Amino acid sequence: MAVIIRDVRAICTAPAGINLIVVKVETSEPGLYGLGCATFAYRHKAVACMVDDYLKPLLVGRDVSRIEDLWQTMNHNAYWRNGPVENNAISGVDMALWDIKGKMAGMPVYDLLGGKCREAAAVYRHADAPTLEGLTEKVRAFMADGLRHIRVQWGGYGGKAVRDFAPAGSEEGIYYDPDGYVRSTTTMFAHLRKELGFEIELLHDVHERIAPSEAIRLAKALEPYRLFFLEDILSPEQGEWFRQVRAQCAIPLAQGELFNNPHEWERLVADRLIDFIRVHISQIGGITPARKLATLCEAFGIRTAWHGPGDVSPIGHAANVHLDLACPNFGIQEWAGINEVLMEVFPGSPELRGGYVHLNGKPGLGIDMDEKLAAKYPCDGGVTVWTQTRLPDGTAHQP
Ligand code: MG
Repeated sequence: MAVIIRDVRAICTAPAGINLIVVKVETSEPGLYGLGCATFAYRHKAVACMVDDYLKPLLVGRDVSRIEDLWQTMNHNAYWRNGPVENNAISGVDMALWDIKGKMAGMPVYDLLGGKCREAAAVYRHADAPTLEGLTEKVRAFMADGLRHIRVQWGGYGGKAVRDFAPAGSEEGIYYDPDGYVRSTTTMFAHLRKELGFEIELLHDVHERIAPSEAIRLAKALEPYRLFFLEDILSPEQGEWFRQVRAQCAIPLAQGELFNNPHEWERLVADRLIDFIRVHISQIGGITPARKLATLCEAFGIRTAWHGPGDVSPIGHAANVHLDLACPNFGIQEWAGINEVLMEVFPGSPELRGGYVHLNGKPGLGIDMDEKLAAKYPCDGGVTVWTQTRLPDGTAHQP
């Protein structure tokens, strides 16, 4: 007899001060449930509403085994599709269904995907400091912990916050100076390579904060410092400019944490304009579309580097790592870290040891959630501040 979906609900919690959304899918089998990440930290109530008010009525009573069919059904049900709120809600259900399938099979999800290609996933961690000396120390500390890949930033995304040139009456916001940032980033890499040599892999995130012509200038200037990759050098809307960056330098390019829609990566992949795909898995709809994207990229020589910041739940991090272990074209995993409070709320979370993150080998995603404890950490529903970025003349710009 088929195991059917009995209940679907969103659980919102913020144990580390960042809003997380988890979807729990309960089944007709007593004690058999799955958990998935639906974290869109800055619109969590909208995602919860999508799960509880729209997906639950669509899904209750359906066969849990039909993950692909249910994914397609969810994706088409609202007619309009590929938006971040709906994709995250779908992801929560999708990951939970993979979790359930693994528990039913007695296998970890990476085994359902074809089995391990490696024992653990190599990660990069994030070093940021207001001074070059401080930054160099942070990088050395990570190296001492066994890290072999480190993303470096001097003074945060977009460099130092400045508001010296804005005309009187300009709006409040997070001001930054793209030209100053491009120059300081080149200085930073010259300093770090002089201090650290070339044995350590260094990465950098532009966070789409510069104009296309500045992106070309920066990519060329950084070429001698042999980056592992340069991340989000352009906004998704300016993807066509990758052809010009590519034509002018050989720096490895990583792109995609803002992608929602397959059209956003199709040309970049098929025309081999990037080297690493780094989508936020819940943002594209979960494990089901991510494994297809990884396979597409494999055919074009592009490696994976799934987005792994603090605004992903430990369940989402676990899903990333299951894919990392099973995909032959895995490149690197971003690792923001899972602190002790998160470990308590999400027992079975992936663990970092040296430069690698490990899974526990339990069936499904191998991770659980203490709902009573999670309820002690309510989400914040306030206006998001860090995304209100502005150029030196006061113009609103992407964050
Ligand atoms: Mg990034």
